[in-house]
Amino acid sequence: MSRIVYVNGDYVPEQDAKVSVFDRGFLFADGVYEVTSVLDGKLIDFEGHAKRLERSLGELDMRAPVTMDELLDIHRELMARNELHEGMIYLQITRGADADRDFAFPDPDKVESSLVLFTQSKSIADSPAAKAGMKVISIEDQRWGRRDIKTVQLLYPSMGKMMAKAAGKDDAWMVEDGAVTEGTSNNAYIVKDGAIITRHLSNAILHGITRAAVLRFAREAQMKVEERPFTIAEAQDADEAFITSASTFVMPVVEVDGVALGDGTPGPVATRLREIYLEESRKTAI
Ligand code: PLP
Repeated sequence: MSRIVYVNGDYVPEQDAKVSVFDRGFLFADGVYEVTSVLDGKLIDFEGHAKRLERSLGELDMRAPVTMDELLDIHRELMARNELHEGMIYLQITRGADADRDFAFPDPDKVESSLVLFTQSKSIADSPAAKAGMKVISIEDQRWGRRDIKTVQLLYPSMGKMMAKAAGKDDAWMVEDGAVTEGTSNNAYIVKDGAIITRHLSNAILHGITRAAVLRFAREAQMKVEERPFTIAEAQDADEAFITSASTFVMPVVEVDGVALGDGTPGPVATRLREIYLEESRKTAI
């Protein structure tokens, strides 16, 4: 079955879903995005994603072509039209298609932002990767300095993923000034003597919606949380590690740069947090 994709006000079969070659998302990566997961036909953490989207747009002086309430309706309509039970909804807003290629932003009264959404059907709750755990390598963080804005300029993270693949591993953790920033498309955590350690919020990392929820659940469960930078050596000496993102929830990490963590299998804290996250986020899904 061909997917139905939302493009600037229309629901169209995927083969007809097209944007202009002059779209600034295509020419300048001048766009922002969100990925919201779907479980049991409901959206997980929609409000968090909508708020972060508004912030990303604000930081870039970009207008939203619809309101956040309308965006929720579009998500729901797209889920219904595609009979999406489990998976993700990808959303992208770009600064639209100007008449010519020009570095300067176009006048938003003349050029409207473009909005695209599509679904990806995938089994995400019952993931074999969560049982095996992931192996990561470390790479230098060579991204731009505003990683708190969720832009579509993802070439370096994509290259990082390829470096991990070439090394026979699953993902890369990026390192800046000796400390881990985050994974190519996820936030990174280690666990040492019962404490969950993850980099503090700043422009150096994306403020993960899953991160916020998981840290809240961890604190509610009386787990100790330390928001601070950590090194690869600390990670290799940790009892366990994990990552979080909307499309993977909580995913254990069992190896860092060739060094197995603990006994090389998913640790109890990551496993428990995954269970709690799935249980709690299902309760508040809309
Ligand atoms: N960090 C980066 C660089 C990401 O690309 C993502 C998700 O795409 C995350 C963290 C996790 O964010 P979230 O939990 O909101 O999906």
